[in-house]
Amino acid sequence: MERDKELFHNLLKIKDDINFIKSPFKCDNIITIAVSKTKPLSDIEILVKLNHSVFGENYAQELAEKYDLLKEKPSFHFIGALQSNKVAQIIDKVDLIHSVDRISLAKEIDRCAGKINKKQDVLIQLNLTKEETKSGIDENNVEDFLNEIKDFQNIKVIGLMTMPFFSQDNEEVRPFFKQLRETRDYLNSKGFNLHHLSMGMSGDYKVAIEEGATIIRVGSSIFGSR
Ligand SMILES: *Cc1c(COP(=O)(O)O)cnc(C)c1O
Repeated sequence: MERDKELFHNLLKIKDDINFIKSPFKCDNIITIAVSKTKPLSDIEILVKLNHSVFGENYAQELAEKYDLLKEKPSFHFIGALQSNKVAQIIDKVDLIHSVDRISLAKEIDRCAGKINKKQDVLIQLNLTKEETKSGIDENNVEDFLNEIKDFQNIKVIGLMTMPFFSQDNEEVRPFFKQLRETRDYLNSKGFNLHHLSMGMSGDYKVAIEEGATIIRVGSSIFGSR
């Protein structure tokens, strides 16, 4: 199949899946991020032509290069682990950073955003599975974390993100998606104003949506395997 038809078909399948899902927690306005890491610019250009407008990248250098080469700039989200010394490379190119997981990183985002008079939207990444190799903060520390950064002028926290382990059995990851929603609702009851839940990837976006995902991050189901 030609690449444009293939990408169109894959996107349509995800849209159909989203429409089909029924759940009391389902968000009306789900954003699908096409995770384009390692994928060529030509794929992004095809999707932009198909009116897909939000892309996710994991590596600062790759994001910056792709962004600069694109004539029509789509919306980019940064979804990977972010080193503080890479923030300056991407700050003027991203609409949302999903992976804030430490104060030092929040400080650097605040500083770089301030320099260009931007208020940078971010999500706080939570490590709910407690895997030591995973980034993200513990859910018991998130309220303190938010209090610590709430006076930062150039950063706005608009939600939470999580990435559980991969499992063939979606029911194994459902509790983590539910926990992210409940954590958001708890924080909002404490006066924070968090809307977004970035959760669900190619293998588990349906259960994530059932549990209230507002943003799903889909790579291989759109582009094929990496
Ligand atoms: C790569 C990646 C995705 C997409 O993964 P797929 O399984 O290909 O859909 C989503 N979120 C993050 C943080 C990623 O690094």
